[in-house]
Amino acid sequence: MSRFAAVRFSHFLPSLLLLLSGLLLARLTQLSEFFTSLFNVLPTLLLLLGGAFCLVYGRQREVFLLLTLYLGYFLLDSQVDHFRATGQVRSDAALIFHLCSLLLPLLYSLYAAWQERTHLLQDLIARAAVLLAVSAVAVGLAQRFPAGLLHWLSLVRWPALQVEWLALVQLAYPVFILGLILLLVQYLRAPRPLHAAQLLGLCGLLWMLPNTFILPNALNVMSSQIMLILVTAVAHEAYQMAFRDELTGLPGRRALNERLQRLGRSYVIAMADVDHFKKFNDSHGHDVGDQVLRLVAAQLRKIGGGGKAYRYGGEEFTLVFPGKTLEECLPHLEVIRQAIEVYRIQLRDKQQRPQDDKQGRARRAGSAATQVSVTVSMGVAERGVEQRSPEEVLKAADQALYNAKNAGRNCVRSYGQRRGAVKLDAARG
Ligand code: GH3
Ligand code: MG
Ligand code: MG
Repeated sequence: MSRFAAVRFSHFLPSLLLLLSGLLLARLTQLSEFFTSLFNVLPTLLLLLGGAFCLVYGRQREVFLLLTLYLGYFLLDSQVDHFRATGQVRSDAALIFHLCSLLLPLLYSLYAAWQERTHLLQDLIARAAVLLAVSAVAVGLAQRFPAGLLHWLSLVRWPALQVEWLALVQLAYPVFILGLILLLVQYLRAPRPLHAAQLLGLCGLLWMLPNTFILPNALNVMSSQIMLILVTAVAHEAYQMAFRDELTGLPGRRALNERLQRLGRSYVIAMADVDHFKKFNDSHGHDVGDQVLRLVAAQLRKIGGGGKAYRYGGEEFTLVFPGKTLEECLPHLEVIRQAIEVYRIQLRDKQQRPQDDKQGRARRAGSAATQVSVTVSMGVAERGVEQRSPEEVLKAADQALYNAKNAGRNCVRSYGQRRGAVKLDAARG
């Protein structure tokens, strides 16, 4: 399965909504008193609550992103407050603003792309050391050579590219572009909500900085929204971890248990189990086994008839059809069983990978032995007088699965069905 198949719009949706609502709120010239006070305290609250939350979940990366954003917000907010109170900018406003325009995207991109790898404490120390070193150099230079630093920052290095609407110092733009590319690549390599959120957070920053002194609420609102985007993404991932199966991407056992509690008066449950999977694992290896489970899951996900697939555990899957009868579901299960049966899986053995394209083409043309296939058996049961609770229906489906295995595998059996009935029906149909 291609990595790009894992790219999902749902990874971006919460962040996108927060970003868009931020853009909308920041554009309102007159925020109500309630919202003005809210956005005045929100960045601090988010730093404390969000930071604690991320720390508990071991997400140091997000802790430092929040910290960087807050530092930028804090520095710029005192400038904006002064500007609003007196109608004039402070003498150091240009220097602080240009420094923030350069260092905020730089540190943000650095922390966002810096994966948590080492031991928790070492990681925290390394990140803190970077923040301290960069801040110390910036403060030192700003205090000793304010004029020289300001000149260096605001120098027009590429006159041909200097257009009026580019409000930040020229140097900031390559940093933003590099950061955006880096975070986009990171998302494409590992598509997950957090990486999507980090990317959109940087877009928010790119919008916020030029508007800091133009729109009165831009800084407060957008800083809050970016921090919220990051904290929400950590919560989103925590939810996914609890309810989604990592290997197949299907909802997992916990999600199934939740769904079972919310089923109405009529429903059908099917259990599917890969045939002779232990043997398959033994002859092709665990990695290939994993690859096959992903492919089986991808087929099961396509189930029609209003069914939904869950990974029950191991090589067993559960399909739930709310509000359906057995007769309505059986054809859909049969379609999936056949789809899995005819699916040919191309094995990709890393060790035997060809050195170059030519060699690879020759090998692919010459050998058909790299193709494998698997089959599944299914047992299905309906809620009825005998089985009233979801647990009982599930047990009945499992019993039917056992019968399917006994009937020679690669078939669908329903609870209480005569031996071989489905195979006969299928042959007739
Ligand atoms: P049957 O046709 O009767 O179902 O035989 P089986 O070999 O499929 O059944 P059994 O339950 O004995 O074996 C299940 C195997 O599934 C055992 C284990 O090696 C394998 N398995 C379970 N979970 C995973 C997984 O996540 N990845 C891989 N690769 N294998 C798994
Ligand atoms: Mg099994
Ligand atoms: Mg099995």
